Amino acid sequence: VPNNVSTQNQQSGGGRKTQDDRRNQQSRQWILQQRKSLPVASVEKWIVEEVKKNDTLIVVGETGSGKTTQLPQFLYNAGFCHDGRVIGITQPRRVAAVTVAKRVAEECNVELGQKVGYSIRFEDVTSSSTRIKYMTDGLLLREALLDAYLSKYSIIIVDEAHERTVHTDVLLGLLKNVQLARSNSIVKQHNCGDVDNNTQNHNQTSTLRACQALKYTPLKLIIMSASLDARGFSEYFGGAKAVYVQGRQYPVEILYTYQPEKDYPDATLITIFQIHIEEGPGDILAFLTGQEEIESMDRLIHERVRQLPEGSNKLITAPIHSSLPSEQQMNVFKPAPSGFRKVILATNIAETSVTIPGIKYVIDPGWVKVRSYNPVTGMESLTISEISKAQALQRSGRAGREGPGKCFRLYTESAFSELKDSTVPEIKRCNLANVVLQLKALGIDDILGFDFMEKPSRTAIVKSLEQLLLQGALTDDCKLSDPVGHQMARLPLDPMYSKALIVASEFKCLEEMLIAVSMLSVESIFYSPRDKMEEANAAKKRFSSPEGDHIALVNVYRASAECLEKRNNAKMKEKAVEKALNKWCRENFINYRALRHARDVHSQIKGHVEHMGLVLSSCGDDMLQFRRCLTASFFLNVARRGPDRSYRTTASGQSVHIHPSSVLSEIKPKPDCIIFNELVYTTQNYVRNVTRIDPLWLPELAPQYYAAES
Ligand code: ADP
Ligand code: MG
Repeated sequence: VPNNVSTQNQQSGGGRKTQDDRRNQQSRQWILQQRKSLPVASVEKWIVEEVKKNDTLIVVGETGSGKTTQLPQFLYNAGFCHDGRVIGITQPRRVAAVTVAKRVAEECNVELGQKVGYSIRFEDVTSSSTRIKYMTDGLLLREALLDAYLSKYSIIIVDEAHERTVHTDVLLGLLKNVQLARSNSIVKQHNCGDVDNNTQNHNQTSTLRACQALKYTPLKLIIMSASLDARGFSEYFGGAKAVYVQGRQYPVEILYTYQPEKDYPDATLITIFQIHIEEGPGDILAFLTGQEEIESMDRLIHERVRQLPEGSNKLITAPIHSSLPSEQQMNVFKPAPSGFRKVILATNIAETSVTIPGIKYVIDPGWVKVRSYNPVTGMESLTISEISKAQALQRSGRAGREGPGKCFRLYTESAFSELKDSTVPEIKRCNLANVVLQLKALGIDDILGFDFMEKPSRTAIVKSLEQLLLQGALTDDCKLSDPVGHQMARLPLDPMYSKALIVASEFKCLEEMLIAVSMLSVESIFYSPRDKMEEANAAKKRFSSPEGDHIALVNVYRASAECLEKRNNAKMKEKAVEKALNKWCRENFINYRALRHARDVHSQIKGHVEHMGLVLSSCGDDMLQFRRCLTASFFLNVARRGPDRSYRTTASGQSVHIHPSSVLSEIKPKPDCIIFNELVYTTQNYVRNVTRIDPLWLPELAPQYYAAES
């Protein structure tokens, strides 16, 4: 009997297998067809030839023409990965790096992390067999710290260069140097050949050995951009050749509003349903400014869908934004089930970074969330700003990829004509401390003289040098200090947080600081839905501390760890443990995704600090010690209450308010002196993540900045 059973099983298993095989084969055929029909497919040979002929090449092509997914595969097939070398492709956005890598792995029919992989901060899905590696531009900069020649790469493709993120700009300058250094090393190696003939001389033999260690091949650079104007890049790379991939763009009808819209989310919602009811089949892509807006739009759509008359077509939503968990990111690419219309709710990530098939209608309210930084006040602002003309064109273009489409611009035609032509590069509007630290760590000491494509202002550079000097990352002659500066550059964190970890190991509260920094590195941990505000506030009180937010964050982390530990001790399965954590988060109004992310960040940074030899000690319940440590770490971010009872920052005298999300916002009496981690302008100047400190600690713990008051 057992024999029979097993035969039966094998048979049915085998049946299933052939079915799966057939389905697999079908989907492979479909993918192959899709790839062949992409505009870049017809110019494969030409592009490969151009790459062979030119050390630096600029590739310009319409979004969706296949640059990001196909080019690396062409180059792989053309033999650019011989001797285990790697093709690196940088993306400004994490989500793009992940989703594209997944797609390309699928196209190559390989397991993700093998031939095709990706690497982003806190997540490395590559192996020694990875040959096509997608990564964020910031991550490649970090790799350059470990290997200044980036020697494992035969080609580096800087993708989405038109976005001009600060990392892209720094990378372009750096890659120019690396390329030069690698070709110089080849010349040297060549000269070493002569030495070979007369190896008696001891000195010369050691030179030979050094030269052999520098056996580098030239580095090919490809700069890819969706913006048609390649002149800037070409000039920057000494007149590098630019090639244009002809896109396939169908006509897109542009519709403007007659009047300016006062409430753009509301106008977006109305337009979605108007399209759904009045227009023919085809998916909708609506551009919103951020996660919260996307989530609330998602809810509103679901409410309205229920009110649709019975028998009408159905609507499903697919959100995509940078903090979407990686399992959900791919959902947006799935075709809508038959009888459904898909509404993609996206941030500007869908402008050029990811191409989603099936879109016929685009809704462009005309707004984007922009981070900007004022080096003089240290104020960072996250404001919803008007998009540029270039962005408006990219957005409308998304409607005409597969056939004629329509773009609904929720602004007037004259408003369009007044938009800026293009966006100001991020390097001109961000805090440069991180950039300066990284360049210093790369051995580039003359920051003001660095060959930036567009130079940041002198004030911004000087301010960040001052900050790093005060933090002890630089010596008096502005060299990277040993060990502090080097340690700070090694950690994949904002310099302020890196410094805090180093300080904390001296204060014997590294365990607490590690938690605080991990929790501060993710999106908001507390979650307060509008309809359950009171319950959420009550839940928050359970973790809150009269001393401030940092301790509250440590409390949340520890409570969640306890919840996990209990389950782990009970030997529950991993999935069940996660489920329990998820439930615990819901009950306590904690953002599960953010907490999960913070736990990952925690374990990664823990590895780094242990590797650096820092002592992982805890101050136990001595929160006074922890607050003193916070003061010694964040002394540049202090605000004091003046006689008029309002807070002013000590750095610039800026007037600020404690953000309503802070546990200190309701506490009375208000503390006289606080440290904070974020200074943001939303509706007014706010400080976020705030802790009460004693002003007398300042001259004691940060004498380099606060001279003792006499
Ligand atoms: P480009 O970089 O030129 O904008 P891509 O290489 O990103 O173009 O995209 C090429 C094609 O691949 C597009 O038609 C897009 O729809 C498709 N594509 C990309 N990623 C995915 C994915 N994850 N799932 C399905 N299709 C995808
Ligand atoms: Mg692309």
